[in-house]
Amino acid sequence: MSVKTFERGVFLPHYKEFSEGEPISTIALPQEVIIPLQQHIGAPGQALVSVGDKVKAGQKIGESSAFVSAPVHASLDGTVTAIEPRPSFTGDKVESVVIAVDMEQKEPQWPERDHTALSKDEIKAAIKEAGIVGMGGAAFPTHVKLSPPRPIDTIIINACECEPFLTCDHRMMLERTSDLVEGAKLIAKVVDAPNVIFGVEINKPDAIEALQNKIAGENGLSVVSLEVKYPQGSEKQLIKATLNREVPPGKLPLEVGVVVQNVATAIAVYEACHLSKPLIERVLTLTGDAAANPGNLKVKLGTPISHVIKERGGVKGAPPDAKDELQMPPHLVGKVIMGGPMTGWAQSHLNVPVIKGTSGILLFSPAMVVESEHTDCVRCAKCVDHCPMFLYPNYIGLYAEMGNFDEAAEWGAMDCFECGICVYVCPANRPIVQFVRQTKKEIAAAKAAK
Ligand code: SF4
Ligand code: SF4
Repeated sequence: MSVKTFERGVFLPHYKEFSEGEPISTIALPQEVIIPLQQHIGAPGQALVSVGDKVKAGQKIGESSAFVSAPVHASLDGTVTAIEPRPSFTGDKVESVVIAVDMEQKEPQWPERDHTALSKDEIKAAIKEAGIVGMGGAAFPTHVKLSPPRPIDTIIINACECEPFLTCDHRMMLERTSDLVEGAKLIAKVVDAPNVIFGVEINKPDAIEALQNKIAGENGLSVVSLEVKYPQGSEKQLIKATLNREVPPGKLPLEVGVVVQNVATAIAVYEACHLSKPLIERVLTLTGDAAANPGNLKVKLGTPISHVIKERGGVKGAPPDAKDELQMPPHLVGKVIMGGPMTGWAQSHLNVPVIKGTSGILLFSPAMVVESEHTDCVRCAKCVDHCPMFLYPNYIGLYAEMGNFDEAAEWGAMDCFECGICVYVCPANRPIVQFVRQTKKEIAAAKAAK
C-alpha cells in the first residue's frame, strides 16, 4: 500500500485507544441549551425569536443577511428564557439564545427526498438553510466555501482525524459510510468537481476498508492512505500529501483547484439534502485519562459541556454522589479542553455550550498537564524545523511578546493555522500560539480602526 504525507510536522502519541472502539451513542437531554448566534467565521446572526417564545427543534432562531454567515436553529423543543451574551469556548461572551428544554420531546420527523435529483443550486441552498459550517473546528460557512470564483477539480474529504485522542470522525466513517460518501458526492456536484478523494491516516485501516468497499466501481472516487503524522489533516498539508499541489502562502485551496471538507460536514450535507435536516446536533469525542467513561457521543448543539461530562460518567475517581457538576476536583482533573489537544481551547469553567465546531471534550489528569512558566527563547530552532508552514515561530513569538504585532505578522503570524507544533517542541515552553492569536486579534483591530 502506498502511503503519502507532507514535509515536516511531528509524530505524536495517538491516545485513540480510550474511545476508538466505542460506538456512537446518545446522552440524556439537558434542561437548558445555549445557542450562540455566531458559531462560524463571518457575520453574527440576529435573533429571530424573543424571550418567552416557544420554539421547536429545527426551527431557525438566528440568521444574518450577510453572505459569509450561517443561520442557527433550536436543537430541542422548549421556551426561550434569555437572549444575552454567554461565555463561549474562547473565553469571550457571545450573544446567545437560551432555551429551557421541554422534558417531553417528540423526535422531529425529517421528510426524505431524493437527494440525487437536486440541482447544484438546490444543494447549495439546502446547505445554507441548514446552517452548515466546517465541523472540523474552522467553522467556515460551507455554502461560501462551495461558491469558488474559479474551477475546482477535486474535493478532498479530510478523514485524517490527526489530532490525538479524537475518534468521532473514525466512528462516523465506520457507522455512516454510505451517508459520508453521498455527502461527498453532493459537495462535488455543487462545484462540478470530477474527483473526490478520501484522505485517511493508516491508523484507521477499518475505515479505509469500509470506504474502499463503499466506493468500489464508482468513477472519480478514491481513498488515499496517509502517514500518521500531525497535522496531516490541515488543508495545505493534506493537499500536498494527496495531490502534490502547493497552496501559496496567504491563499486558499481553491487557488489550486481544491475544496477540502471534513467527515462530519459531508454527513451534515447529506442530511440537509436527503432529509432537509438543519444542523442541530453533532458527534463529538469525550475522552482523556481523567474521563470515567470515554466515548463518541451524539449531542444536541447548545448542550453545556458540564452536562455531557456528567451524563457520560463524570471524572474518573470522583465520588458518585458528587452533586456540583461544575466542580472538577483539582486533584483529579488538571485541564479541560474543548476540541483536540493541539488546537483546542482550555476551559476555565464548564457552562459553555457544544457548538457546530466542537469535535471533542478532553479531561486530563494533573499528571498529563505540564504547566510551567515559559522562559526566553534559547534559539534551538526546533520550532522552525517542525513548522509545517515553514514559518519562523521563534520570531513571531519574540515580536508579539514585545508588542510589535506588525513585525510578528511580517514573520508569518497570519499564515499560521495554530497547529501547536511549535509549542509542543519548544524546550522553553514559549506560548507561541497565544502570541499568534494575539497578533491576529491586534492586526484585525487595527484594520477595523482604519
Ligand atoms: S507557527 Fe503556527 S503553523 Fe507553525 S508550528 Fe507554530 S502553530 Fe503550527
Ligand atoms: S523551539 Fe522555542 S526555544 Fe527553540 S527556537 Fe523555537 S521558540 Fe526558541
